[in-house]
Amino acid sequence: MSKICSELYRDFFYKINGMTFEMDEFISKVSGAMPEIAQVLEIGCCAETFIAPENPFNLNGINQSVTFYKHPEGYDEHPETFVFHTGEGGSLSISFYPKKGHIWNEAELSDISFIAENLFIIGGRVQMLSVLKKVSITDIGTGASNMSGLGMHAEQLLESGAFKDYAVFFINLKNFKFINQSVGERKADFIIRDYAKKLLNYINDDEKLARPGGDNFCAIIKKERVDDFLEFISGISFEVEAAGEKRIVNVNSRAGVYMVNEGDPIVVAFNAASTALNIAKTSGRGDVIRFKADMLDKTIKANEISSVFPDALIREEFAVYYQPKVGLSDNSLCGCEALTRWIRNGKIISPADFIPVLEREGTICRLDFYVLDKVCADIKRWLDMGLVPVRVSTNFSKLHLHNEDFADRIIGIINKHGIDPSLIEVELTESSGYEDYEALAEFVRKMKSYGVSTSIDDFGTGYSSLNLLKDLDVDIIKLDKSFLDNLGDEKKSDEVVIRHIVNMVNELDMKVVAEGVETNVQADLLENFSCSMAQGYLFDKPLPCSEFEKRLRSGRVYQGVR
Ligand code: C2E
Ligand code: CA
Ligand code: CA
Repeated sequence: MSKICSELYRDFFYKINGMTFEMDEFISKVSGAMPEIAQVLEIGCCAETFIAPENPFNLNGINQSVTFYKHPEGYDEHPETFVFHTGEGGSLSISFYPKKGHIWNEAELSDISFIAENLFIIGGRVQMLSVLKKVSITDIGTGASNMSGLGMHAEQLLESGAFKDYAVFFINLKNFKFINQSVGERKADFIIRDYAKKLLNYINDDEKLARPGGDNFCAIIKKERVDDFLEFISGISFEVEAAGEKRIVNVNSRAGVYMVNEGDPIVVAFNAASTALNIAKTSGRGDVIRFKADMLDKTIKANEISSVFPDALIREEFAVYYQPKVGLSDNSLCGCEALTRWIRNGKIISPADFIPVLEREGTICRLDFYVLDKVCADIKRWLDMGLVPVRVSTNFSKLHLHNEDFADRIIGIINKHGIDPSLIEVELTESSGYEDYEALAEFVRKMKSYGVSTSIDDFGTGYSSLNLLKDLDVDIIKLDKSFLDNLGDEKKSDEVVIRHIVNMVNELDMKVVAEGVETNVQADLLENFSCSMAQGYLFDKPLPCSEFEKRLRSGRVYQGVR
């Protein structure tokens, strides 16, 4: 026969039941409801221990002990303990201690057992609801927040007036595509998870890490910890086993950072950090970009560029300029590079402003073929006019390498104009990963079989080593301008590097074109190092077609320049 009346029970369960999403709230409800029951059932103490293994929502598992009730005058040391096993492989044990000197009879024990079972059932429901709530704001792959979790956290900070004390980060793992290929997707997923774990261990309770997906992360970090956090994410290493070998994989990241200002809405802060990350990805101005106000203007401009581009192409707003290449031994005009200019409403827009945007959108491929078409038409016209043309190099984005018909389209355009393929050279920038490299090697082979020359642009700025280069059958290496910037200085290290690159390239039966040659000192040193050709303002800036035709027509030698 139950000792407590049904009204007391109802009251107890009414107090602890209800829509509760947080364990802490449930615990405080039980603590509040326990004294009345304890008094009737002579309970001196009631406590529980909850153990749960690791899961994406509790990365370190749960091991939590709670006391719901303790009688002020103490309790007997011998509890009745009820152990329940949870579905996730954990356990909940609930212990009831009798008041000092009290021994429970059967009726009391049956009531206590009933209460224990109900605490387990109702507590289990709260646990499930709290997991459900966490699922809705957690990235399952890593245990970091998802974007709605990050948004909720930002809202709480904004409401409490603390958002202005934080910085928003958008982070992208830099070499992840390469890691994916070299260790396999499954292991790469583990790396992402471990990377998140390291970051989660780094961040404090008031900060937040989220993973919107893939190899992207976002974080809200206290302003005073920004430098420290950037240092932390600048290179994180993991030991990975791949093909039976242990390897150290270095994960580098790019980040856009926005320091929140008083009164900033959340969407403004997130947009700013994302804009800064985009600039870090595309501008080559460094892996970490801190947001500045003028960047938004650029984003607006970028949106404008991509929306007017298709129309501008139809309206033939893109003009091809030609920059001469000069043989260093005799100062003769020996080739040229086609460089695009966008002439819109009478103003010339430089490629630096629109190429990165088109590259990001993938529309650059259309422009590149358009330029090649114009170049072939110009060469054909020069021939028809009786001029002797020089070989023209045109720039092609690396994005083309993933199109199987890239080489065929080039040869198709050349054939359409009926010009000799040896008059065309295709410039591609250095590859940044193995996949690109393979595609590049295949493309170079095809071009060679068609009789079209190829060159590696901006050599020395990418990832590929000299070693990789020896297997690529290209004709020309274009030495990046950055090598020349300190040429002629006291420090001779750049000279040593250039001399060795030029020697090696010459020995491999290719030729070097030095880019951005602006002074006689540079030209003379380059000639001494056996560099065959130079291109730069010392000889000519990129010229409109009609100006370049004049160079083709008369002299063809740069006299008086050096
Ligand atoms: P790039 O291929 O490295 O072209 C050389 C750039 O250096 C050109 O800038 C040229 O004007 C500039 N330059 C040449 N000589 C000198 C010099 O002596 N001093 C200095 N400071 N600069 C010099 P531009 O024309 O603004 O082109 C920028 C980039 O835009 C090019 O770099 C190329 O990557 C890209 N680009 C231009 N046209 C096209 C195109 O039709 N397709 C693609 N995919 N990219 C293009
Ligand atoms: Ca180029
Ligand atoms: Ca270049």
